[in-house]
Amino acid sequence: MPRPETLLAHAGCRPDPATGALVSPPYLTTTYERASDGSYPHGYQYARTGNPTRAQLEEALTAFEGGAGCVAFASGMAAAMTVLHALPADTHMLLPDNVYYGVRHLITETFGPYPLSATSVDMTNLEAVTEAFRPTTRLVWVETPSNPMLRITDLDAMADLTHANNALLLVDGTWTTPLLQRPLEHGADLVLHSITKYLSGHSDVLGGAIVAAEESAFFNRIRSIQEAGGPVLDPFSAWLALRGMRTLAPRLRQQCASTRRIAAFLDEHERVAVVHHPSLAHHPGYEVAARQMDDFGGMLSFEVDGGRDAAMDVAAEVQVFRRATSLGGTESLIEHRASIEPDDSSTPEGLLRLSIGLEHIDDLIDDLTQALAS
Ligand SMILES: *Cc1c(COP(=O)(O)O)cnc(C)c1O
Repeated sequence: MPRPETLLAHAGCRPDPATGALVSPPYLTTTYERASDGSYPHGYQYARTGNPTRAQLEEALTAFEGGAGCVAFASGMAAAMTVLHALPADTHMLLPDNVYYGVRHLITETFGPYPLSATSVDMTNLEAVTEAFRPTTRLVWVETPSNPMLRITDLDAMADLTHANNALLLVDGTWTTPLLQRPLEHGADLVLHSITKYLSGHSDVLGGAIVAAEESAFFNRIRSIQEAGGPVLDPFSAWLALRGMRTLAPRLRQQCASTRRIAAFLDEHERVAVVHHPSLAHHPGYEVAARQMDDFGGMLSFEVDGGRDAAMDVAAEVQVFRRATSLGGTESLIEHRASIEPDDSSTPEGLLRLSIGLEHIDDLIDDLTQALAS
C-alpha cells in the first residue's frame, strides 16, 4: 500500500479509458445507456445512484482513511443528516458539549420532532461520558480537536467505552484529515468529513463524506438513504475535490508549522488572555493530542482581554487575514465565533478563531502584531 503522500499525489489521476487523458474529465452526465439485452455494461444507471467521478473520489477517500467504503455527499451537513436518518427510532446519542454548531442545530432543531434524543457531555471527562450512556444509546459523536475550543478527546478510550455500551463511534475528521489523525485505527466505526475544508482546500467546493470501517448494515443503510433522497456530491465538485487532495500533504504541513508558530507568538502576547491550541504544553489536551495526532492542526482560537468589543476591534484591524467563516483554504481567516453561532452558544465573547493559510509566516505574525497593537 503506498504511503498517504503518494496516494494523495495520484488522487483522480486515473487515465481516461476513452482518450488516455491522464486526469479523467469530470463525468457531467445524468444517465447511462443500456445494452441491447437491457443490462448496464459499465455498472452505472443514473446520477443519483452513481457517477464515475464521485466514485473516484470515494475510492481515494477510502484508501486515504484506511476504511472499507465511502459515500460522498453534497455537504458535510448532508452527510451528518443522513447518518441521523439512518438511526433506528428511539435512539439516544452522545454529543460533545463543544461541537460544530451546525451538528447541534441539526439534532435539536431539524430532528426536534423525531424520536431522537441527545445528551451533551464534556468528552474530555471520561467519567462524565460513562455516566451519560443509556440503554438506548446507539451513537457517540466525537470531534477532536473540537470547534472552537480545541478540546481533545482520547479516541482509544472513547472507542472502548462506546463499544462496551454496544454503540457506534463516529468521529468528525474535518479538522485533521487522515494526514494528522486516523480515527479508524483507534477503533472508530465511521469518520465524517466536510470536504469543503482541508480536503478540497481552496474555499471553492462544498462537499462531505462518510468513510466506514466496514461494510456494515448501518453503513449500507446510509448508502441506501443517500440513493433514495439524493444528497450526492455533484461530479464537478468531486473533480475539484480530487484536484485539491493532490496537494493536501504539503499544504497541511505548512499550515500546521505556521499555526504552531502563531500559537507560541500569541501565547506570549500581553493582550491575549489564553490561546487554545494543543501544540502548547499548557493545553489540557497536549499529551493525548501528541499521542494520537501526527501534528496539531491548522486551527487555533484565542481570547483577547476586554471581551467582545476588544475581539471585534482586533478582527477589524487585520489586513492579511480575511474576516470570514469556514477554514482550511489557502488564505488565512479570522472569525469572531460567538456572533455566528446561535444565541445559546457558550463560546466566549472575547474569542477569535483563526484558520491558518499558506501566506508567509512573517506576514501573518506582522498582521496580528499590528492588529493587537491598535
Ligand atoms: C464545516 C464543518 C462541518 C459542516 O460541513 P459543510 O460542508 O459546511 O456542510 C462539519 N464539521 C466540522 C468540524 C466543520 O468544520
